[in-house]
Amino acid sequence: MVRSLVYAANWKLHHGPAAARDFVARFAELTEPREGRELWFFPTAIAIAAVADGFRRRADVRVGAQNVHWEPKGAFTGELSVPLVAEAGATHVLVGHSERRHIFGETVEQSARKTVAVLAAGLTALVCVGETLAEREAGRTEDAVRRQLDLVLEVVATADRSRLLIAYEPVWAIGTGRNATPADAAQVHRFIRSRVEGRGWTDRLRVLYGGSVNAGNALAILAEPDVDGVLVGGASLNPEGWAEIVGLGG
Ligand code: PEP
Repeated sequence: MVRSLVYAANWKLHHGPAAARDFVARFAELTEPREGRELWFFPTAIAIAAVADGFRRRADVRVGAQNVHWEPKGAFTGELSVPLVAEAGATHVLVGHSERRHIFGETVEQSARKTVAVLAAGLTALVCVGETLAEREAGRTEDAVRRQLDLVLEVVATADRSRLLIAYEPVWAIGTGRNATPADAAQVHRFIRSRVEGRGWTDRLRVLYGGSVNAGNALAILAEPDVDGVLVGGASLNPEGWAEIVGLGG
């Protein structure tokens, strides 16, 4: 059986609609669908429609939002709801990215509410968890991950479980050029998966790794059987570089 891998691009605050269209046109020239490979893009909210439209003939591509509010509508100036991003073409949503947690103060409870809203609307949620450098150095990696993960696992309805994925993103590795070793990542991935054991999950929980993945280290990370894909920021911004990375592994 071909191993199924997800390659997820998080564009953060880069690429408006025009740049996104250029990216899609070039990336589509450089790649074609491959069995066992899913390509996920999380553009800026304003570019979701352009990316979804540009890839409409690519069954291997999914487009998502980087963040949503949990309420479907109301007086929440500046926010985007799940129905709104879905209308723009998003089928996936990133939840609890460390930049949301650490820069914008998103709490574990808020991440859990967002996850429920995303899944209840039929979309797929990629929930990010990971420890800070201080937590890793204090030997508290598993405590930190457990704290972010358990509430999410508790609130997910059984019927929605197959649409929940976790991204293990050590905070000290994001945008720093410093990645977790493949073995360290795999160990945390196994810990994450162990949290669903005993909760009656039958589907395999898919866990992606994120944190300074690039063309030089992606293959070694993806070679770990406990790694189901990668979530990539900086190295996903350029179509040639991203096409090279998604051509690795599998
Ligand atoms: C991310 O944004 O989720 C990320 C992992 O960023 P980078 O690849 O730049 O470290």
